[in-house]
This record gives sequence, C-alpha cells and structure tokens, in this order.
Amino acid sequence: MRSKHKRRPTPLQVWKFGGASLADAAAIDRAATLIASHDGPLVVVASALAGITDLLLGGAQEAAAGTADAGAARAATFLQRHRQAVNALVPSGPKRRRLLAGIEEAAKQYRDLCGAVAVLGHLEPRTTDLLVSRGERMSAALLAEALAGHRRRAVYVDATELVVTDGQHGGAAADLPATTRSARRLLNPLVQRRVVPVVPGYIGRAPDGSVATLGRGGSDLTATLLARALGAAQVVLWKDVPGILTADPRVVPDARLLSRLHHREAAEVAHYGAKVLHPRALIPIAGTRVVLHVRSFLDPTSPGTEVSAQRPLEGYPVKAIAIVHGQAIVTVAGKGMVGVHGIAARTFTAVDAERLSVSTIFQASSESSIGFTIPESEAARGVRAVRAAFKDELASGVIDNVSARPGIAVVAVVGDGMAGAPGIAARVFSALAARSINVVAIAQGSSERNISFAIDAREAPEAVRAVHSAFQLSKIGGGRPLAAPRTDVVLLGFGNVGRALADHIAAASADSGVKVVGLMDRSGYIFEPRGLSRRRLTTLTREKYEGAFIAALGGRRASAQDALATIASHAVSRPVIVDVTSGETADLLHTALGQGFDVVLANKKPLTHSWSSYEGLMSACTPGGPRLKYEATVGAGLPIIDTYYKLIETGDRVLRIEGCVSGTLMHIASAVSAGRPFSEAVREAVERGYAEPDPRDDLSGADAGRKALILARLLGYRGPAPKPDDLVPRSMKGLSPEQFMKRMPELDAEWAARTEREARRGRVLRYVVAATPKSVSARLVAVEASSPIGALTGTRNLVAFTTKRYRTEPLVVSGPGAGAEVTAAGILNDIYSLAPR
Ligand code: ADP
Ligand code: ASP
Ligand code: MG
Repeated sequence: MRSKHKRRPTPLQVWKFGGASLADAAAIDRAATLIASHDGPLVVVASALAGITDLLLGGAQEAAAGTADAGAARAATFLQRHRQAVNALVPSGPKRRRLLAGIEEAAKQYRDLCGAVAVLGHLEPRTTDLLVSRGERMSAALLAEALAGHRRRAVYVDATELVVTDGQHGGAAADLPATTRSARRLLNPLVQRRVVPVVPGYIGRAPDGSVATLGRGGSDLTATLLARALGAAQVVLWKDVPGILTADPRVVPDARLLSRLHHREAAEVAHYGAKVLHPRALIPIAGTRVVLHVRSFLDPTSPGTEVSAQRPLEGYPVKAIAIVHGQAIVTVAGKGMVGVHGIAARTFTAVDAERLSVSTIFQASSESSIGFTIPESEAARGVRAVRAAFKDELASGVIDNVSARPGIAVVAVVGDGMAGAPGIAARVFSALAARSINVVAIAQGSSERNISFAIDAREAPEAVRAVHSAFQLSKIGGGRPLAAPRTDVVLLGFGNVGRALADHIAAASADSGVKVVGLMDRSGYIFEPRGLSRRRLTTLTREKYEGAFIAALGGRRASAQDALATIASHAVSRPVIVDVTSGETADLLHTALGQGFDVVLANKKPLTHSWSSYEGLMSACTPGGPRLKYEATVGAGLPIIDTYYKLIETGDRVLRIEGCVSGTLMHIASAVSAGRPFSEAVREAVERGYAEPDPRDDLSGADAGRKALILARLLGYRGPAPKPDDLVPRSMKGLSPEQFMKRMPELDAEWAARTEREARRGRVLRYVVAATPKSVSARLVAVEASSPIGALTGTRNLVAFTTKRYRTEPLVVSGPGAGAEVTAAGILNDIYSLAPR
C-alpha cells in the first residue's frame, strides 16, 4: 500500500572540496567516492588541485617581472599534473580525449598569455584572474568526469553562469540577488533530476562578462553563496584539517578541534586571517538557517566543526586565536587632530575608495593618532591615498605625518563569551608580557567579541602560543584534542608475525591511537586513512598469506616507490612502516625514511648487508626526523636494543654482548642435552612454529649470525659478517626439505655422542653469539651446565651485557625469545615508542 503522506524531500547540501582534497588522481577518486555515496540532492564546488593556483599566479608574476619563459615552465607542470589525473581517472575514449584536449588548450593559452604579459611587463588584475581561472575550471571538469566512473550523474556548470559579481578583479564581491536568480534557474532543474552540478569555485562573472576571482580561498565563498541562493540546509567544506581549530595547527601544535561555533565567531576567525575559511565566507549565510560544516577529508566519518546560528554549548570566553600575516600599520598622527571632527571618517573614506581591506583600526584615546592595518603590499598605496585626502591638513600642520610600518602581524583573540567577561584583556596582555612580546597597538571591537593586537610579525607565532596556553585552549577548547596520539601503520609482510601484529593492533582499544592504514607488497598497496577494520585486516592478511597479491585483493597496482609517495602525502600522522618480511627491503626502507616514514623492523636483512648500506639507513634518521626501530630483530619481544640504549644514556660503556638469541637453536640444544634425539627436537621446533618451514635456515646459523652482526654493529663494529657454525652437514645441503626431514635421524647418533661427552665434563651444548666493537661470532659451544646460559631451557633467550659498570657480573636480559606473539609484542612496543607525545 502506498503511503498517503508525501515523503519530505531530503534537503539540499553544497559540498566544497579544497585543494588538498583534490591533490591528485587518488584524492579526486576519494572525493568522487564520497559524493557518489551521498544519496540526497547535492551541488559540488571544486577548488583547483593543490598548489595549482600558486603555480599559475607565480608564473604570471614572473612573466610580468620580465621572465620570458615563466609561463612555459608552469604550463608544462600544469599540463603534466592534470594529464596524469585524467589518465588515471577517466577510461580511454572520447571523454578522455576531450578532457585532455581541454587541458592542452588551457595550458597553451596560459603560456601564450604569459608570453604577452612578459612583453608588456605589466599584469592587470583582470588578466591575472583570467590566467588563474583555469585551475578551478579544470579540476571541476575532472571531478565531474570522475563521478561518471562512480555512476553518479554529474555535469560541469561554469561559475561565470552563476556567480554574478561587482567586477573588482582579484577580490570581487557577489551580487546576491542576481546570483540567486541565475543559480536557481540553472541548478534547481539539475538537482531535481538528481544530477550533481559540479561548479568551479573562486571565480565569477564581472559585469563586462570577464572572469573575476573572489580573492584567495574564494571557493569557500562560492559554496556559501550557492547554499544561500538555493536555500540549502548544509554547506560542507572538506579540508585537510579535522575542522576549525582553536588556532592554526601549523603554529600551535596542540590546537584543538572546536566542535561548534556560532556564525559570528566563525566570521571573526575568518576575518582575522585563519586560512581555514575565506574572510567573507560567512557573510552570505549569517542570519540564515544554513549550517556550515568544516570536515576532514581524511577522516570523513568524524563530524568536524558545526557553524550555525545556534548558541554554542561551551561557556568558555575565548574560543580561538587567528593571525593576519603580512600587514603594515598606517598611522595618521598629529597633535592638532585632537578634537577635530571627521578625521577618522575621511581617513577610511580615502582607504575605502582605494578598495583596501582594513583588518583592524586603532585609535589612541588621546585622539592624537589613528592607525589601521592593511596588507603590507598595499601600504604605499594606502599612505598615498590618505596623504592626498589630507593634503591641506598636512600643509597646515594639523596632521604631522602619515606613515606606514611594515612587518606587522595582527593577532585576534575571538570568542562570543568575551562580552562582559572581565579580565580577558588583562590575561592576554600579561601572557604576552611574560614572554617579553612588545605590543605595537591594541584594538577591541565594540562588540567585545574579539581583542586584536598588532605585533612584530616575527613574534606572532610565539604570541599566539602564549595566549593559547594562557587560556588553556589546548585543554578546555571545548572539543576533543587534535593531537590525540595517533600512529598510522603500514604493514609489509603477512607471515605468522605480520598476522599476529595486525590482529593485536586491530584488537587494541580505539584510544591506543594505533591503526593499520595500509598494506603493501610487490604488486601494489591498499591504503585506508581511517584505518582498516579488524574484519578486513583478518581477511586480507589471510588471503595474502594464502598467496594472493595485494593488487588482486582490491588494492592499487603501484611500484613501492609510488605507493610510499601516495601514502606519505595522505597519511594523517607521520606513518610507520613495519617490515615483518624476510626479504631484501633495504632500498625500499631507505626510500620510506626519505619520504618521512618511521620504520620498525622485525626483518633482519636490511641491517645485515654491507656497513655502508647499514650506515645509509641509520643516517637517514635525524633528530626530529624519521626514526628507525628494530627491537624485534634480536630476542623477539625482549628489551635488548632498549637495554643497550638505557646503559649508554646513563653513561655506561658496553664492552661485550653475548648470549643465546635463537629460539629454535635453543630449543634443539636443550632438548638434546636432556637426552632427546636431535631429529625429534628439530621436528618439534618446526611443528611448534619456532623454526622456519625448512629448519636448515635456522640450523645453518645464518639467522643467529645476522642477530650477532646487528648487536656488534650496535657496538660500533664495522667488519665483515661472522661465519656462523653450520649445523647442517655439507652432504645434506642439496636435499629437498622433505628429504632432509626424512634423513635427519642419521645425525642423531653423533649428536648423542657429543652431548654425552660434554655431559661427563659437566657441560652442555649451546649456540652462542658474541659481539664486541672489534669482533663478532656465532658458534656451537660447550658451556658449564650450571652457568646462566647452560641453565636455559625451552626457547628462552639470554643476552648478557658486559659493561664498564657491569664488568665482573654482566647485566642479563632473559625470557621467551621466539614465537609470533612475543615478536609482535616487541614490534608493538616499538610502534608505541614512536607515537607522538
Ligand atoms: P582548502 O583546501 O579548503 O582551501 P585551506 O588550505 O584554505 O583549505 O584551509 C585549511 C588550512 O587552514 C589548514 O591546513 C590550516 O593550516 C589552516 N588554518 C589556519 N587557521 C586554522 C584554524 N583555526 N583551524 C584549522 N585550520 C587552520
Ligand atoms: N584555488 C584558490 C586559492 O588557492 C581558491 C580556493 O582554493 O578556495 O586561493
Ligand atoms: Mg582555502
């Protein structure tokens, strides 16, 4: 039966993807996936691909300064980046050809136009706008096409058909009624047919039909304009930050997410230069019911910041701190000004006529000066305009001087609750005084929703941190902490240890902050910035273990180099690559360190090649830079490398490290000493998973030898690798693993005789490694049965450190030293030790 009630239509949303969210093909594909999975009516606004606007502007400016081929170089990069994205996203065919032709045409026009600019030696804002408009137009066209691949109907709609502006090139203001009319006329019919219009942000049409930009960051404004025009319920700005934070995270690392802000507060934050929102982005929706969300492109499930007309929940007076960089203070000063009417009004009329954007106005109560801040680059123009306006007063001496001081930053402390809360200003300025930061000028808006002050630009970061901590914004900012320790793990290797590790990480509570975000093998990679679920991890690692390639398991085919580059550029935190393979991965890890990954190893091979390869890996780690941890390479989960460093850090000197570091050889040696046949002991080690499937890999001593070398290199040993005692007779080297297992009993008699012989002298056989700064060895030796090594049983490891302090009686670390579980625990320890604190 049909319902009598008509279903309420789902309200419209406008989504804007910032440059970082459209960095490359992978990011565009993610954006398209997000869009395609949204069911309701949607309008999408696209920024230029990350860095493209700067690229295009830079080329134009260089051309104007006379560099003839500036345009050509930038055009080539432009071409290459877009071409790459198109080829990865759009299947070959007429659509791809059309897009590629469009890109080529845009690049060519850009190059030619820059050439003309270089000849003229002059760049009009109108030309700049035309040049730079290509960025948004191309990305929007690309995104629209990428959506087709996700079966979501989408069409490109050019912004010059929608956004009507006043034609001030470089910083145009929108004509709201006209924009509303065209947006409704063109977009509503599409939305009603469930087609997603994809609109380039940042640009609009000037009255003369030319392209005019809305000012840097203008795509935010395009989104709010369209939302207002179409009566959308929500605008979502997808960005590379979790939302609006208490301060710019690049300046204040412990800035917190603000979960809710009032329109007015967000408007102030934007006005005062927080790049996260275009300064005028809130204007179209202020006073409306449109709710704006700033959300994380990298973590699309988290709610981000909600900006609405609702009163914010938190009762904290100060919400956020913003900085306007690159300012100059222009001062109009003169003793004669006191009591003279109209000076302020005339000053700002003059500034306004030049269309300069004033961030703050200062007036001393003595009225003997008025100051305001404008962009440094406009200071000369501002001074000229004000001087012209006061020509007579300057001549008569009513005004002494109009001057500009560059190198200024304006810091604004913003919060709705500041109105009426006493002592806020005092707290701000005493925090600055405590750090000897000199305040050049102070302004408090009459709304009391912000206090702003001008300071020397070089002191701005310090000032922001000082105020941030004075109000404890990192603790009570009203949101969850941004810097929740988070570690993103990329896993390399899927044997016993890899699977145990994946399981440990997936099972750990969410607040451990450790997530497996990627898997890699020779064929390609899987990357999921939110972290792979336990279920997915279990399935993937099992299928991988059974022999499948990642590329065949829904991953992306890529070289290791490309995989690392993609993950590095999209990971939320500094990613950790964990190598639990037994392969030759030194080169790969070297690249990873170069890309800023931290590295955790259980694989010994990368550390046991030539000294120079070892040294290369070690020196890729720098203070504050990438780090390499390898506790699990020796003694599984036992703290051996860690103990070494603890000794060194407390001023001790390690002379010798010696012990049993092979769980398999220990198991065999102790079983044989207890009178069991050699072959039985080996078989048991294989069955229990201590030994490699072909036990000769352990019996050859190669593995123990590698561990010995790692320990020796820790002590500064630079010589060749040790020649370990080989427990496999030469005659049995060539056998298949099955044949070897079958013929092993042939060795039992000799082992029994040797054990017997030693036992009579009170000794037992042990496979012992020893390392000093000058030597390294791995041998089967007879030791006193009553010695610590002689007394070991099972798969226990024991490592003894002889040091300056522990010279007569060495410091001993001992415990279980084999098995996937303990090894995974050792790796996990390394991962935790890398977590940001
Ligand atoms: P988009 O990609 O949408 O254009 P932007 O790069 O313009 O996004 O804005 C996001 C950037 O703004 C962040 O990377 C961050 O460094 C900066 N930023 C400055 N102040 C803040 C703040 N208070 N909260 C969040 N981000 C901020
Ligand atoms: N691409 C433009 C800029 O970089 C507009 C935007 O990203 O909002 O300023
Ligand atoms: Mg922006």
